[in-house]
Amino acid sequence: MEQEIYYICGIKQIRLKDEDGEYWYPMQYFFKTILFKRLNLSTYRDDERYNIHMRVLEYQPIGVNNETNKAWFINTEGMYMLLSKQKVKPTTPRTTNRLQKILAAAKNFFGVPNTDEENPIYLSYTPDISNYDVWSILCITRDTSIKHDTLWKRCEGCGYYYPLTKNYFIENKTGFSAKCKQCSGRDFKCQNKKLQFIYNNGGLNLLFALHEDKDEEILKEIKKWIREGEII
Ligand SMILES: [Zn+2]
Repeated sequence: MEQEIYYICGIKQIRLKDEDGEYWYPMQYFFKTILFKRLNLSTYRDDERYNIHMRVLEYQPIGVNNETNKAWFINTEGMYMLLSKQKVKPTTPRTTNRLQKILAAAKNFFGVPNTDEENPIYLSYTPDISNYDVWSILCITRDTSIKHDTLWKRCEGCGYYYPLTKNYFIENKTGFSAKCKQCSGRDFKCQNKKLQFIYNNGGLNLLFALHEDKDEEILKEIKKWIREGEII
């Protein structure tokens, strides 16, 4: 068994990798550090659906040298099943928000869709952006930093989900702003420099036409933009 360190939302975690490349996760440690929750292990040990995914394994606790402990571990499939059932019990807004974020990140890590709650603050999957404003769509679809495991956050202003990065939210001391940049009077930046140039130079109508992908409209708008603008 090989012991590995990984992180969920900056929280240090360990896992073991067996000879077949399968990963094993310490059940109690994971739930204690991620969701501040104690699992009732005996209910899972007695449940056939879970216990086929569980094993007692030896591991080295974090921060302790030359010492091994034994604990119940669960494989990736078991973890998927466990996390699918997890929900955050609302307490104070701040704690609830934090736990929702960590749980979304944990679900993300294990590929568990996070769709249980209505209007969750965080999404662990890419939402449907087809009804977003055109500039948002152009920025998001050109943003190569967005990966399948990117966390998305609901903006308190417009209610739309944006990737939780500094292109869409303002970074502050406690993390990220509650409102997206657009709702805070700033603009998203597009990684495509040409689109950004058109945007900076008042070419919104041209961007609409480009988005609609109708050649005639695009040509018309390009002509207008060049004539009206201060480019030539
Ligand atoms: Zn917004």
